[in-house]
Amino acid sequence: MFTVDNSKKALQLFKEKIDQNKDYLSELDTPIGDGDHGNNMARGMEAVSESLQNKETASVQDVFKLTAMALISKVGGASGPLYGTAMMEMAKAAATTSDVLPILEAGLAGIEKRGNSQPGEKTMLDEWAPALAAIKENKLTEATLESAVEATKDIVATKGRASYVGERSIGHIDPGAMSSMYFFQSLMEAGV
Ligand code: ADP
Ligand code: MG
Ligand code: MG
Repeated sequence: MFTVDNSKKALQLFKEKIDQNKDYLSELDTPIGDGDHGNNMARGMEAVSESLQNKETASVQDVFKLTAMALISKVGGASGPLYGTAMMEMAKAAATTSDVLPILEAGLAGIEKRGNSQPGEKTMLDEWAPALAAIKENKLTEATLESAVEATKDIVATKGRASYVGERSIGHIDPGAMSSMYFFQSLMEAGV
Protein backbone atom coordinates (compact mmCIF):
# COMPACT_ATOMS: atom_id res chain seq x y z
CA MET A 1 0.00 0.00 0.00
CA PHE A 2 1.24 3.48 -0.83
CA THR A 3 1.18 6.05 1.98
CA VAL A 4 2.39 9.64 2.03
CA ASP A 5 5.34 8.55 4.17
CA ASN A 6 6.50 5.53 2.20
CA SER A 7 6.05 7.23 -1.19
CA LYS A 8 8.15 10.19 -0.03
CA LYS A 9 10.73 7.89 1.49
CA ALA A 10 10.92 5.86 -1.75
CA LEU A 11 11.42 9.02 -3.80
CA GLN A 12 14.16 10.21 -1.44
CA LEU A 13 15.91 6.84 -1.75
CA PHE A 14 15.51 7.02 -5.53
CA LYS A 15 17.14 10.45 -5.54
CA GLU A 16 20.06 9.11 -3.50
CA LYS A 17 20.58 6.11 -5.79
CA ILE A 18 20.46 8.38 -8.84
CA ASP A 19 23.06 10.67 -7.26
CA GLN A 20 25.33 7.76 -6.35
CA ASN A 21 25.06 6.28 -9.86
CA LYS A 22 24.86 9.48 -11.88
CA ASP A 23 28.14 8.91 -13.75
CA TYR A 24 27.36 5.25 -14.37
CA LEU A 25 23.94 6.09 -15.86
CA SER A 26 25.53 8.65 -18.17
CA GLU A 27 28.21 6.12 -19.14
CA LEU A 28 25.50 3.62 -20.08
CA ASP A 29 23.91 6.34 -22.21
CA THR A 30 27.18 7.06 -24.06
CA PRO A 31 27.50 4.17 -26.57
CA ILE A 32 23.78 4.08 -27.42
CA GLY A 33 22.68 7.64 -26.63
CA ASP A 34 24.05 11.08 -25.84
CA GLY A 35 25.61 10.43 -22.46
CA ASP A 36 23.30 12.52 -20.33
CA HIS A 37 20.88 10.13 -18.61
CA GLY A 38 22.55 10.35 -15.19
CA ASN A 39 22.71 14.14 -15.34
CA ASN A 40 19.11 14.40 -16.54
CA MET A 41 17.81 12.19 -13.75
CA ALA A 42 19.98 13.81 -11.08
CA ARG A 43 18.75 17.28 -12.06
CA GLY A 44 15.15 16.04 -12.05
CA MET A 45 15.33 14.20 -8.74
CA GLU A 46 17.05 17.15 -7.08
CA ALA A 47 14.04 19.27 -8.05
CA VAL A 48 11.66 16.52 -6.85
CA SER A 49 13.39 16.33 -3.50
CA GLU A 50 13.29 20.10 -3.07
CA SER A 51 9.62 20.25 -4.00
CA LEU A 52 8.65 17.42 -1.64
CA GLN A 53 10.49 19.09 1.21
CA ASN A 54 8.98 22.52 0.68
CA LYS A 55 5.42 21.87 -0.41
CA GLU A 56 2.39 20.49 1.34
CA THR A 57 1.73 16.80 0.68
CA ALA A 58 -1.58 15.75 2.19
CA SER A 59 -2.02 12.66 0.01
CA VAL A 60 -0.17 10.13 -2.13
CA GLN A 61 -1.75 11.92 -5.06
CA ASP A 62 -0.01 15.15 -4.01
CA VAL A 63 3.35 13.37 -3.68
CA PHE A 64 3.26 11.93 -7.20
CA LYS A 65 1.81 15.08 -8.71
CA LEU A 66 4.61 17.26 -7.33
CA THR A 67 7.11 14.64 -8.49
CA ALA A 68 5.65 14.65 -11.99
CA MET A 69 5.68 18.44 -12.24
CA ALA A 70 9.28 18.70 -11.08
CA LEU A 71 10.46 16.02 -13.54
CA ILE A 72 8.56 17.45 -16.47
CA SER A 73 9.77 20.99 -15.83
CA LYS A 74 13.42 20.22 -15.00
CA VAL A 75 14.46 17.39 -17.31
CA GLY A 76 15.06 18.28 -20.93
CA GLY A 77 15.71 14.72 -22.15
CA ALA A 78 13.18 12.04 -23.09
CA SER A 79 13.31 10.57 -19.61
CA GLY A 80 11.76 13.69 -18.01
CA PRO A 81 8.42 13.58 -19.80
CA LEU A 82 8.39 9.77 -19.63
CA TYR A 83 9.00 9.45 -15.87
CA GLY A 84 6.92 12.60 -15.40
CA THR A 85 3.95 11.13 -17.23
CA ALA A 86 4.32 7.89 -15.27
CA MET A 87 4.17 9.86 -12.00
CA MET A 88 1.24 11.99 -13.21
CA GLU A 89 -0.76 8.87 -14.11
CA MET A 90 0.21 7.35 -10.75
CA ALA A 91 -1.10 10.49 -9.04
CA LYS A 92 -4.41 10.15 -10.87
CA ALA A 93 -4.70 6.48 -9.94
CA ALA A 94 -3.85 7.28 -6.32
CA ALA A 95 -7.00 9.41 -6.13
CA THR A 96 -9.09 6.25 -6.04
CA THR A 97 -6.80 3.53 -4.60
CA SER A 98 -3.72 3.14 -2.46
CA ASP A 99 -2.95 -0.36 -3.80
CA VAL A 100 0.53 -0.59 -5.28
CA LEU A 101 -0.22 -2.63 -8.40
CA PRO A 102 -2.96 -0.48 -10.00
CA ILE A 103 -0.97 2.67 -9.26
CA LEU A 104 2.19 1.32 -10.89
CA GLU A 105 0.17 -0.12 -13.77
CA ALA A 106 -1.18 3.36 -14.42
CA GLY A 107 2.43 4.59 -14.47
CA LEU A 108 3.47 1.96 -16.98
CA ALA A 109 0.49 2.74 -19.21
CA GLY A 110 1.47 6.41 -19.05
CA ILE A 111 5.00 5.65 -20.29
CA GLU A 112 3.63 3.51 -23.12
CA LYS A 113 1.24 6.22 -24.20
CA ARG A 114 3.71 9.11 -23.92
CA GLY A 115 6.52 7.10 -25.51
CA ASN A 116 4.38 5.37 -28.10
CA SER A 117 6.27 2.33 -26.93
CA GLN A 118 5.88 -1.10 -25.42
CA PRO A 119 8.08 -3.65 -23.68
CA GLY A 120 10.62 -5.36 -25.96
CA GLU A 121 12.04 -2.17 -27.50
CA LYS A 122 14.99 -1.67 -25.14
CA THR A 123 13.61 1.06 -22.93
CA MET A 124 12.67 1.61 -19.30
CA LEU A 125 9.53 -0.42 -20.05
CA ASP A 126 11.74 -3.53 -20.13
CA GLU A 127 12.29 -2.95 -16.41
CA TRP A 128 8.80 -1.75 -15.55
CA ALA A 129 6.95 -4.64 -17.20
CA PRO A 130 8.84 -7.52 -15.52
CA ALA A 131 8.80 -5.67 -12.19
CA LEU A 132 5.04 -5.25 -12.37
CA ALA A 133 4.52 -8.87 -13.45
CA ALA A 134 6.46 -9.94 -10.35
CA ILE A 135 4.56 -7.56 -8.06
CA LYS A 136 1.33 -9.02 -9.43
CA GLU A 137 2.45 -12.45 -8.24
CA ASN A 138 3.73 -11.04 -4.97
CA LYS A 139 7.30 -12.05 -5.67
CA LEU A 140 9.30 -9.01 -6.61
CA THR A 141 12.95 -9.62 -5.78
CA GLU A 142 16.26 -7.93 -6.34
CA ALA A 143 17.16 -10.78 -8.73
CA THR A 144 14.08 -10.13 -10.89
CA LEU A 145 15.03 -6.47 -11.17
CA GLU A 146 18.66 -7.23 -12.01
CA SER A 147 17.97 -9.90 -14.59
CA ALA A 148 15.46 -7.67 -16.38
CA VAL A 149 18.06 -4.92 -16.70
CA GLU A 150 20.66 -7.41 -17.89
CA ALA A 151 18.23 -8.75 -20.48
CA THR A 152 18.04 -5.33 -22.15
CA LYS A 153 21.53 -6.07 -23.53
CA ASP A 154 20.03 -8.57 -25.96
CA ILE A 155 17.38 -6.25 -27.35
CA VAL A 156 17.80 -4.13 -30.48
CA ALA A 157 16.60 -0.62 -29.68
CA THR A 158 13.66 0.56 -31.72
CA LYS A 159 12.62 3.59 -29.63
CA GLY A 160 14.41 6.71 -28.43
CA ARG A 161 17.95 7.78 -29.31
CA ALA A 162 19.30 4.25 -29.02
CA SER A 163 17.23 3.31 -32.08
CA TYR A 164 19.61 5.49 -34.16
CA VAL A 165 22.40 2.96 -33.59
CA GLY A 166 20.07 0.04 -34.37
CA GLU A 167 21.83 -3.35 -34.25
CA ARG A 168 24.85 -1.75 -32.59
CA SER A 169 22.73 -1.27 -29.48
CA ILE A 170 23.06 -5.00 -28.83
CA GLY A 171 25.35 -5.80 -25.91
CA HIS A 172 24.55 -2.56 -24.09
CA ILE A 173 22.27 -2.10 -21.10
CA ASP A 174 19.51 0.46 -21.54
CA PRO A 175 20.17 3.40 -19.19
CA GLY A 176 16.48 4.06 -18.53
CA ALA A 177 15.98 0.42 -17.53
CA MET A 178 18.87 0.82 -15.07
CA SER A 179 17.46 4.00 -13.53
CA SER A 180 14.09 2.25 -13.31
CA MET A 181 15.76 -0.56 -11.39
CA TYR A 182 16.81 2.03 -8.81
CA PHE A 183 13.20 3.21 -8.66
CA PHE A 184 11.84 -0.27 -7.93
CA GLN A 185 14.65 -0.99 -5.44
CA SER A 186 13.68 2.24 -3.68
CA LEU A 187 10.04 1.14 -3.46
CA MET A 188 11.14 -2.16 -1.93
CA GLU A 189 13.48 -0.48 0.55
CA ALA A 190 10.82 2.03 1.61
CA GLY A 191 8.51 -0.86 2.43
CA VAL A 192 5.86 0.13 -0.11
P1 ADP B 1 17.53 11.51 -24.12
O1 ADP B 1 17.46 10.23 -24.90
O2 ADP B 1 16.59 12.52 -24.61
O3 ADP B 1 18.94 12.00 -23.97
P2 ADP B 1 17.71 10.29 -21.50
O4 ADP B 1 19.09 9.93 -21.89
O5 ADP B 1 17.54 10.99 -20.20
O6 ADP B 1 17.00 11.14 -22.64
O7 ADP B 1 16.79 8.98 -21.39
C1 ADP B 1 17.00 7.90 -22.25
C2 ADP B 1 16.12 6.74 -21.80
O8 ADP B 1 14.74 7.05 -22.02
C3 ADP B 1 16.37 5.47 -22.57
O9 ADP B 1 17.42 4.72 -22.02
C4 ADP B 1 15.03 4.73 -22.50
O10 ADP B 1 14.96 3.90 -21.36
C5 ADP B 1 14.04 5.85 -22.31
N1 ADP B 1 13.24 6.07 -23.51
C6 ADP B 1 13.58 6.78 -24.61
N2 ADP B 1 12.57 6.79 -25.50
C7 ADP B 1 11.58 6.04 -24.95
C8 ADP B 1 10.24 5.67 -25.36
N3 ADP B 1 9.75 6.07 -26.52
N4 ADP B 1 9.52 4.91 -24.51
C9 ADP B 1 10.00 4.52 -23.33
N5 ADP B 1 11.23 4.84 -22.88
C10 ADP B 1 12.00 5.58 -23.68
MG1 MG C 1 20.43 10.70 -23.18
MG1 MG D 1 19.70 13.99 -24.13
